Amino acid sequence: MNTTIGVRSGALQSTALGYPRIGSRRELKRALESHWSGRSDAAALEAAAAAVRAEMLDDLSVLGTVPTGVFSLYDHVLDAAVAVGALAPRHRRDTALASYFAAARGDAEAAPLEMTKWFDTNYHYLVPEIGPETVFAADPGKAVAEFREARERGLDARPVLVGPVSFLLLAKPSEGAPEGFAPFDRLGDLVEVYVELLTALGRAGAGLVQLDEPALCADRTPEELAAVGAAYRRLVGVAEVVVAGGYGPFGEALPVLLDAGVEGVALDLVRGRGDLEALEALNVSRETFLIAGVVDGRNIWKADLARAAADVARLQMLSDRVAVASSSSLLHVPVDLAPELDAAHGLPEVLTSRLAFARQKLAEIAALADPQGPRDARPATPDAWRDAAVRERLAALGEDADRRAPYPERRGAQAERVPLPPLPTTTIGSFPQTAELRKARAAHRQGLMIDADYHARMRAEVAEVVAAQEALGIDVLVHGEPERNDMVQYFAEQLTGFATTAAGWVQSYGSRCVRPPVLFGDVARTAPITVDWTSYAQSLTDKPVKGMLTGPVTILAWSFVRDDQPLADTADQVALALRDEVADLEAAGTAIIQVDEPALRELLPVRAAGRAAYRAWATRSFRLATSGARPDTAIHTHLCYSEFGEVIDAIAALDADVTSIEASRSKMEVLADLDRARYRSAVGPGVWDIHSPRVPATDEMAAALRLAVAALGPDRVWANPDCGLKTRRYEEVRPSLVNLVEAARTVRAEL
Ligand code: GLN
Ligand code: ZN
Repeated sequence: MNTTIGVRSGALQSTALGYPRIGSRRELKRALESHWSGRSDAAALEAAAAAVRAEMLDDLSVLGTVPTGVFSLYDHVLDAAVAVGALAPRHRRDTALASYFAAARGDAEAAPLEMTKWFDTNYHYLVPEIGPETVFAADPGKAVAEFREARERGLDARPVLVGPVSFLLLAKPSEGAPEGFAPFDRLGDLVEVYVELLTALGRAGAGLVQLDEPALCADRTPEELAAVGAAYRRLVGVAEVVVAGGYGPFGEALPVLLDAGVEGVALDLVRGRGDLEALEALNVSRETFLIAGVVDGRNIWKADLARAAADVARLQMLSDRVAVASSSSLLHVPVDLAPELDAAHGLPEVLTSRLAFARQKLAEIAALADPQGPRDARPATPDAWRDAAVRERLAALGEDADRRAPYPERRGAQAERVPLPPLPTTTIGSFPQTAELRKARAAHRQGLMIDADYHARMRAEVAEVVAAQEALGIDVLVHGEPERNDMVQYFAEQLTGFATTAAGWVQSYGSRCVRPPVLFGDVARTAPITVDWTSYAQSLTDKPVKGMLTGPVTILAWSFVRDDQPLADTADQVALALRDEVADLEAAGTAIIQVDEPALRELLPVRAAGRAAYRAWATRSFRLATSGARPDTAIHTHLCYSEFGEVIDAIAALDADVTSIEASRSKMEVLADLDRARYRSAVGPGVWDIHSPRVPATDEMAAALRLAVAALGPDRVWANPDCGLKTRRYEEVRPSLVNLVEAARTVRAEL
C-alpha cells in the first residue's frame, strides 16, 4: 500500500519509549556495587552514571527525538517517588543519594521499600508507600538535568516521567494509613505536584512530555477512569502531554485520555493491537500525536518491517503527526547484539541474523521512519528449527494430561512407598552456592578446569550436602543443585531449540541483571539431564532424595521465547522434554520429584480477559510434564511468592501432591486462600524467610507450623524454608536448619 496517496501526511518521526540504563557492559552495576561496598565515593558513582547516560544518548541519537529521564540509578518508580517528594520519613538520610539507597536497599536503621514484579515482566520495581500523611513536593532536578544533557548535545528531547495515575496505582498504603485508604485517593494532590514538574520542564525548554501510564494497560474501574480523565484535563492545561502505555492495549482508557485533551498517545502495537482498530473507530483530530509502538520492546526478534510499516501507514491515515517507536521501553532487552556475533563465544549466524537487541531496534525504528528504508517481511522459521518427531508426538497426545490416579489414591500409594513422619522436613532444592563453587564454575567456563575435574568437584559438593542433611535429621533430602548456574539456563543449555547468549544481560532490579536464554526452535531433550546427579545423591543415603526440575512455565517466563507460534504450543514442547526426564528419574528409582514453577504468576496476563486461557495452558503444560509419573511417585511443586490472587485456582489445577510456597513474611495468611481455592493436597508453607540473613528461632517456626496444622490438619503440612538456599551462607543455613528440624519435632510431638 502506498502510504501517502490521498493523505496529508507529515514526515514520519522516530523515537523510543525508554532504553536500557545499566550500560552496555553493565558499567552501572559495577559502579553501584563498588559504591555500596564503600570502595568508591558518590563522585565516582556519579561519573560512572554520567558515562552510562552519555552512552545512552549516543545510541538514541539515531532517532529524531530521544526520551530523557529514562536513566535510573536503581529504579524508575523510586525516581518518581523522589520527583514528587514522597520518600518515606524512615528513609531520609544526610544526602539525597544516601536516602535513595536507604529506600532501595534498606540499611541498619530501616527496611527498604518492598520490591515487586513490573507488570508481566521479570523487572522488579520498588513499591512507594503513600498515606494520607504523605506530603508531596515537586523535585524536578533529575528530570530537568537529564533533559538538559540531551539538549546540550543538540538533540530533540522528550522528558519521560512515570505518570501520576500509575505512580499511585503501583504504590501501597503507608504503614499508618487508616483502613480503607488507597494511595489513589491522593490523585488530586499529586496532580498539582505534576503541574509543577511539567512547569519546571517547560521552563527548561521542553515541549512534549511523555507520562508513562502502564497501569492503564490493566483493567480499571469506571471510577478510576473518571479520575484519570480529571487528572489529565488538569495536566494538559500546563504542558503538551503524550501518554504511553507499553504493556498491552489502553482499551477503555484510550477514549478517556483523548477526551481529556492529551496531545497524543503511545500505542503498544505488538501486544495491544486492539487499540489500532479502536483508534480508527474514534474520531481523532489529525493533530493528535500518535506514537506507533511497532518494534517489540519486550522480545529480541527482528521486526517484520513490512507488517510494521503497514501499521504505521494505518496511523498515518488518521493523523499528520506519527512517530515510529518501540512498543514499550527497551529496558527489557539487552543493549547490543555485537558480542553475540563473536565467532568463538557468540550465537550461530542463522540465529543472530534474526535478532535485534536495543541498538539494533533503534536502527529498525530509524529505518521505518525513512521513506526509503527497507521493508523486509520477517523470513519464515528455518526448517532446521522444526522437529517433526516432537510435533507428531504432541499431536498424538491429544488433550489428556491427567495423572493416572486421583490424589487420594496417590496419597496412599506414596505413603506406602516412602513412609514419612507427620510434618516431614525438607528444603526447596539449592544449597549455598559458595565462593569456591562459583570459582570452579568460572574456571570450567573459561576452559581452565577440565570437565572431569569440574564434575568431581560438583560431586564432592553433593556428597557434603547429603551428609549435612543426614546429620541434621532432615526427612527428604536434595542434592543441592551445585551443578546449576541458574535454574532455567541449566536446562536451556541441555535442550535443543535453546541458545544462551554471551552477554545478553537485562536488568532485573537495581544492579541485578539476568541473561535469559533464547528459545528459538522446537524443543527436545537429547539425553537425561538430572538423573546422574539425583541418583548419585541417592546412592549416598537411605533417606529419599527429591529429583529437582524447573517447570515449563518458568522456563518460558525467564527466556526470550520464539513468537512465531502460541506460547502454549512452546510450553507443551518443553513439557514433553520434562516428561521424559520425569520418566527417567522414576526409572532410576526416584520416588519424589519436584517441578518448580516460581514464575507461574509472572506470565499472568495484565488484563482479566486473557487469564482463563493462560491458566488453562500453563497448568496443562505442568500436568503434561508430570502426569506420566506413577501414582506412587510424589510430584512436588514450588512457588515462591505468597500473594496468589489470580493464580490460586491454577495451583489446584497443577494437581501436585505437595506444594511448597513462600509464607513466612505473610505469617501464613496464604493458607486461608488455599482453603478457599479448594486445594486439597499437601502444603509446605515456608517457615523460614530465606531472603533475610536472620536465623529464625525454633519457637517462631514451631508457632508457624502450629498455624499451618490448625488451618490444614496434621496430615497435610510439610516443614520447609520459603525458597532455595543458594543465596545464603552456611553460617546461616546450618543453625536455621537445626532449628527447623527441632521445630518440626516439637510440633509433631504435640499432635
Ligand atoms: N529449586 C530451586 C532452588 O532451590 C527453586 C528456586 C526458586 O524457586 N526460585 O534454588
Ligand atoms: Zn522459590
